[in-house]
Amino acid sequence: MSEKNKSTVAVRNGVEADKHHGAVVPPLYLTTTYSFADFDVKRDYDYGRSGNPNRDILADTIAKLEGGAKGIITATGMAAVHLATQLLNSDDTLVIPHDCYGGSYRLFTSLAKRGLLKVEVLDLTKSDNLDKILTIKPKLIWIETPSNPVLRLTDIRAITNIARQCGALVAADNTFLSPALQNPIKMGVDIVVHSTTKYINGHSDVVGGAVVAATAELGAELAWWANNIGITGAPFDSYLTLRGLRTLNVRLKQHQENALAIAKYLETSDYVDQVYYPGLESHPQHQLAKEQQEGFGGMVSFNIKGNIDDAAAFLTNLEVFSLAESLGGVESLICHPATMTHAGMDADARIEAGVGDTLIRISVGIEDINDLIADFTRVFAKVQPGTNKNVNRASRGA
Ligand SMILES: *Cc1c(COP(=O)(O)O)cnc(C)c1O
Repeated sequence: MSEKNKSTVAVRNGVEADKHHGAVVPPLYLTTTYSFADFDVKRDYDYGRSGNPNRDILADTIAKLEGGAKGIITATGMAAVHLATQLLNSDDTLVIPHDCYGGSYRLFTSLAKRGLLKVEVLDLTKSDNLDKILTIKPKLIWIETPSNPVLRLTDIRAITNIARQCGALVAADNTFLSPALQNPIKMGVDIVVHSTTKYINGHSDVVGGAVVAATAELGAELAWWANNIGITGAPFDSYLTLRGLRTLNVRLKQHQENALAIAKYLETSDYVDQVYYPGLESHPQHQLAKEQQEGFGGMVSFNIKGNIDDAAAFLTNLEVFSLAESLGGVESLICHPATMTHAGMDADARIEAGVGDTLIRISVGIEDINDLIADFTRVFAKVQPGTNKNVNRASRGA
């Protein structure tokens, strides 16, 4: 097939690949093992950990959407993050952002504690810090943009420029925007990592991950490690994730249309102090977002007026939003990072990362936008954040 646009690749890659019956949707192969065609004559596949058709179609589709040479499907997003670290030896340094995904931060720092690699933590959103990378001479630089939960951006081209000067590889966790809205490999990144649990599957019913390598050589090394340590994804998970991926582009369009409307609504609300969304002109990196992203995504965060009691009252009275961690599904989720996703961080580190007690994060779903905004308007009027400081939190509820 000649080169097609991303929506077409997402919908059609692997369609009609079935040679036996012409099945339009690729059949599900649950088999763990494959017969040899003859003595010493292997077919395309021999064993399920090493290879599976459903996993391969999903990997190939994500690799094409990212503009990479090879994709690898892992059992979870964290397995994908872990896989990328297999490229480092014990005396190699990994530069990580101070506000990367909490699970990644925990993995990197615990691997370093065991002496399996070295870690340097930097605020990569500040351009003053980038020269430090030249003296650190890392093997790998990890970036995650926009960051969670206050949507700070890292300048991808500035990082890949620095990396080239010191011979480092760059890995980007592209979970927050998905390949529909950002393609880091096209800006010089070597490895893209996804938690497919989020937008790629998009229906909050599969945990999975993917790694995409820019070159076939790097892809082969990572695929060898994935089989070696046994972290490849399950066939049925791959089947479901491909089904979710078919609608990635249309879902993201609606996610970000709704997200922008909510961000604009919150910006004008008397009950809100600050709104974080790269699509707002008030976002300090709005220009950078326009340069390196193809859209602004579906994640919005804001500070509610008042204190933690106001946040609790607001969150427990909503009807259309589910109070839950995770993101990227069709349904709207809302969370309180300080007591949920970022509860494991100590208070100082939390404040440094911008996660105060009044911060609220929304994974904006694809419901009717009028219902989403009406839910906010109703609850703001009911609890009047910032006006009732001494209410006992335990007595508040729906
Ligand atoms: C969720 C997430 C991960 C981890 O993925 P799992 O599928 O939960 O293992 C890694 N990075 C980011 C940015 C995430 O949001």
